[in-house]
Amino acid sequence: MNEISIEDLLEKVKSYNKEALEDVKRAYKYAYYLHDGQVRQSGEPYIIHPLNVAYILAEMHADSNTICAGLLHDTIEDTQTSKEEIARIFNLDIAELVDGVTKISKMNFSTKREQTLANTRKIITSIKKDVRIIMIKLADRLHNMRTLQYKKKEKQQENALETIEIFAPLAYYIGCYKIKNELEDLSLKYLDKEKYKEIEEKRETIEVENNAYLVEMLSTIKDILTERNIPNEIKIRIKSIYEIYKKERKGNDISEIHDLFALKIIVDNIANCYHTLGLIHSKYHPINSKFKDYICNPKTNKYQSLHTTVFGAGGKIIQNQIRTSEMDSVATNGLATYWDIHKGQARNIMQEELTKKFQFFQSLLDIDKSFLDNQKFVRQIKGELLTSKIYAYTTTGEIIELPQGATPIDFAYYTLDENTANKMITTIVNNHQVPMDYELSNKDRVEIITDNNSTGPSPSWLTNTKTTTARRKIKKYLKV
Ligand code: MN
Repeated sequence: MNEISIEDLLEKVKSYNKEALEDVKRAYKYAYYLHDGQVRQSGEPYIIHPLNVAYILAEMHADSNTICAGLLHDTIEDTQTSKEEIARIFNLDIAELVDGVTKISKMNFSTKREQTLANTRKIITSIKKDVRIIMIKLADRLHNMRTLQYKKKEKQQENALETIEIFAPLAYYIGCYKIKNELEDLSLKYLDKEKYKEIEEKRETIEVENNAYLVEMLSTIKDILTERNIPNEIKIRIKSIYEIYKKERKGNDISEIHDLFALKIIVDNIANCYHTLGLIHSKYHPINSKFKDYICNPKTNKYQSLHTTVFGAGGKIIQNQIRTSEMDSVATNGLATYWDIHKGQARNIMQEELTKKFQFFQSLLDIDKSFLDNQKFVRQIKGELLTSKIYAYTTTGEIIELPQGATPIDFAYYTLDENTANKMITTIVNNHQVPMDYELSNKDRVEIITDNNSTGPSPSWLTNTKTTTARRKIKKYLKV
């Protein structure tokens, strides 16, 4: 059981934002008063839950309003207060955050299912307005998953499934790997307990077998870096249970996973990342095909690091992840890192970055515009966004994220402006001409060939697309 107290929360907030203390205390008192008498299924006073949610947010160094909203997040839904009242007592920003995570009342729907679909849509689309709503929702879900044992079996399955289908992928999109990994592992524990235990035990055994080698390698690399005056911090990282589970489902045995163990090597700047890479390669032979430069080619969720898999100590295959400490924060908390970097400005900068730099954001807007029916919206989001992706390159090496099954037509509408994409006549993938319905794969290099004399999209293009964005633009052209 989690024994977080208000003192722990205040201590945590004090460590990075002293000015927030009075507001956090006031939000706690008000939430305490409103939830007084309510108990969780565990038998604990209800306030334990919002307190933990606020604490998870404070661990990410959330701003003052977000912490207060974390404390108040269930008050509109479950107690006698309203958005207006919270705005009056606190401020409009807090009131809107709390309102954002509040379920739409069941009075508005004839069935439970309709209510659930509308609320799923509400959560997903809240990112358009304020990504902090999703972060509060993720913290809320994380604490609920941590305490899921007190719920009925049916509810456990329902929540675990929803977490794996909706919340973990959302956490991935905004780069909150720490929350994503914990949500996935907790979900698997309820969805397939046997499998979870089996992987946990296997991983433990292999860990024991490899530990001495990992420690030896860690200290060897530490010595090499220290000798060259490169400030460093090195940690041992083991792949999450759910990540191993996914690999196994693709047919890989746990012993074949090349990045089951990794050394996370954190240095002071980018030049030293590459210097460290060279030093490691001259000590341990790299596997050429397993090198990835996510510093120059960041993942679409902004993750940056160098990955190299080497023949490590004792001939063991070990991955090394080399990055700066700022990159390490992004690899842990993603967009939430902005709270720490940009303080009071974080919220606006997060929204701006999402709009301009995160590829999924435009897809989400297009799906939202195209599907008015909540059931169709949720189905499309699951099938197009919260699903397996492929990553293809433009001719200049930009990485484009598309759903599995995407074709050159999708690629064209994602990378070219609409009028140019309309003039597409053929596509070259990895130096070979491919048909319009060609299914793109990871690492494909895609060149779209256009011709000003092209007669424009034909109705058949609609059946050869996977993305809503492409379909919207083709329909616009065809006026259908
Ligand atoms: Mn809650």
